[in-house]
Amino acid sequence: MTQESTVKCQMCGTDVPEENCFISEGRTLCEDCYIEVGQRIRVCDPWGERSKRIFREGHGLTGTEGLTDLQKRIYEFIKTKGKATREDLAKEFALKPGELENEFAILRHCQLLKGKKEGDNIYLVLW
Ligand SMILES: [Zn+2]
Repeated sequence: MTQESTVKCQMCGTDVPEENCFISEGRTLCEDCYIEVGQRIRVCDPWGERSKRIFREGHGLTGTEGLTDLQKRIYEFIKTKGKATREDLAKEFALKPGELENEFAILRHCQLLKGKKEGDNIYLVLW
């Protein structure tokens, strides 16, 4: 029995042959999404975090001040629940994975949220 095994791209949900899949920050992605992720702001960017923090401190912003309403709502949602997966958030706020990823990157830069791996799932939790 030689059945080709496929994995699901965690961004767009396409079935990808195992030998053609890419791993980015613990997620399995198809080639298209992998390239897309690589072109966006890098989530783990200490300089981004630092400059954002300095900006916020310089403007006297703390906690969720200076965030968009959507970012505040995402933060409050996770604060209430303790943790949430990307799927939970995408459903709750009707966001496309790419949009959610951008919001998360900003919240992470502000050191409000971070990713946490539990078993096979990656949760977003308070920093
Ligand atoms: Zn994909």
